[in-house]
Amino acid sequence: KLGNETVKAELGRATWKYFHTVMARFPEKPTEDQKEALRSYIYLFARLYPCGECAEHFMQHLSKYPPQVSSRNAASGWACFVHNEVNAMLGKPEFDCANLGEFYDCGCGGDEEAGEG
Ligand code: FAD
Repeated sequence: KLGNETVKAELGRATWKYFHTVMARFPEKPTEDQKEALRSYIYLFARLYPCGECAEHFMQHLSKYPPQVSSRNAASGWACFVHNEVNAMLGKPEFDCANLGEFYDCGCGGDEEAGEG
């Protein structure tokens, strides 16, 4: 069926921004409960992603590369890696995950209670 590539790309950019920002705010030393919350979130995020074709592809990536939830670094690095898998599939350049650093800042400053860290 006919889609709209511009709208799909806009949704993708907004979603990736949010997704990576969630990872950047995940605790450095998460509790078991926090790890399980992130793991569940990622699977539900994939399942409920509004573009059906994208959701299907992303779920395939998840079964190949299960979410890494042991720490903020692990989660951010994993998210960067899977985004790069999507980039490769779409013929986009690879993002250098060593440059993640402060790229995804939530703008919430020292407000540690607002997110998961
Ligand atoms: P985007 O890929 O949207 O990236 C936005 C910005 O994030 C980049 O400009 C860069 O600054 C940064 N960035 C790039 N790579 C990384 C990385 N690895 N880690 C951290 N930051 C990075 N589109 C389809 O046509 N088919 C699909 O099957 C499809 N599946 C998708 C699945 C998911 C879960 C999501 C969220 C999106 C999907 N998309 C899909 C949309 C697609 O990934 C892009 O979002 C869209 O094509 C716009 O691309 P863009 O070039 O603007 O950059």
